[in-house]
Amino acid sequence: MTPNLSPENELLLNTVRSFMEAELLPHEELVDSTGEVPIELGRQIEARAKEVGLYASNLPEHVGGGGLNYSAMAVVEREYGKTSHALHSWIGRPTELLLACEGDQIERYLNPCVSGEKRELFALTEPEAGSDVMGMKSNARRDGDDWILNGTKHFISGPVMPDIAIVFAATGVDETKRGPRKRITAFLVDVGTPGFDCREGNKCVSYRGYKTFELSFDDVRLGPDQVLGEEGRGLELSGKWLGMGRIWVGATCCGKAERLMALATEWAAGRKQFGKPIGTFQATGFRLADMAIGLRTADLLVSDAVARADAGSMQDQDAAMVKVYCSEMLNKVADDTVQIYGGMGLMEELPVQRLWRDSRLERIWDGTSEIQRHIITRSILRPLGA
Ligand SMILES: Cc1cc2nc3c(=O)[nH]c(=O)nc-3n(C[C@H](O)[C@H](O)[C@H](O)COP(=O)(O)OP(=O)(O)OC[C@H]3O[C@@H](n4cnc5c(N)ncnc54)[C@H](O)[C@@H]3O)c2cc1C
Repeated sequence: MTPNLSPENELLLNTVRSFMEAELLPHEELVDSTGEVPIELGRQIEARAKEVGLYASNLPEHVGGGGLNYSAMAVVEREYGKTSHALHSWIGRPTELLLACEGDQIERYLNPCVSGEKRELFALTEPEAGSDVMGMKSNARRDGDDWILNGTKHFISGPVMPDIAIVFAATGVDETKRGPRKRITAFLVDVGTPGFDCREGNKCVSYRGYKTFELSFDDVRLGPDQVLGEEGRGLELSGKWLGMGRIWVGATCCGKAERLMALATEWAAGRKQFGKPIGTFQATGFRLADMAIGLRTADLLVSDAVARADAGSMQDQDAAMVKVYCSEMLNKVADDTVQIYGGMGLMEELPVQRLWRDSRLERIWDGTSEIQRHIITRSILRPLGA
């Protein structure tokens, strides 16, 4: 159960549930078994999402978005989490980073992404720079007023071939108290620009049908108006958005855990061995009890973090705690659900194995559990100078 909903958020939840029942849930098996969301289906989800006002619901009304605050978005994301990312990502939630667009960038990038005319990707990760973001090799050098971009990115994900990539690249080195540090700048790069190749990459076994792309840049010429935010401030710009992304991962994990727990409970009550429902064996019943404790705790962590975000006081460690706890809670719930189902838990005919496979990604993307713990540790030790 989503805790303590306001009447407005109760209505919002009902809208999202009806939308999912009509537009997303009926297609889960097809998408997982074929590894594709048919383009007509994707466009249909997109169009219906616009009709009911769910498209770009995360962005402020003054740019044409739905104007939901973070607490309301958590309700929405939690519900989306019950189904596949491959499907719900068609209900666009353009990155808040685009709010940094200025001047002509508003017409060229922000507005078409809010209306759904264009899709953007967030391109940070590289083959040799995953957790170690500062190890990135992508770089841009000045040529007069222009920039020349070189490098590669991988695992850059989205539902469909994008129109725009927000690309992070080194544009120099700063001397800091801790030694030299790369200056990272965010660029808005249009797909189709000469020298920019964007192609489908590896296929992930979690959320089959959700695409990853490989991006390569070979002397790509960019104008001065393609810098997003300030030169050298790319990581600061993306910081808040990355934090909220981790909270949305947490919220979706709660939704998926709730769905898994409902499946586990039904099976534990209905499946009989030794003449009794298996849920009456303590080993099974305690698994359900632990799921309930974990899910409630995770929901409370998400509620706390979005309340902080709405109040403007959320810190990196708040988001890291949500990410690590909710994703690990979900993985335990998923694994225990398979165990409660026994052999049937691994059969393609039932959704449990799919939800279990989908769950695994949550501990990896948006920063692994290890990196989240590193962020939390740093927040504990830094005030002591360690
Ligand atoms: C399906 C999918 C979609 C994605 N979408 C995007 C996207 O849209 N945009 C984007 O920019 N990226 C995206 N990513 C990338 C994702 O954020 C990275 O996969 C993630 O940050 C981990 O990087 P890595 O895979 O290179 O693992 P690595 O960094 O190589 O890590 C491997 C292991 O080493 C551990 N490790 C590394 N460093 C440390 C350390 N200092 N201390 C302890 N342990 C450590 C990690 O925790 C992990 O267990 C996506 C990834 C996937 C799989």
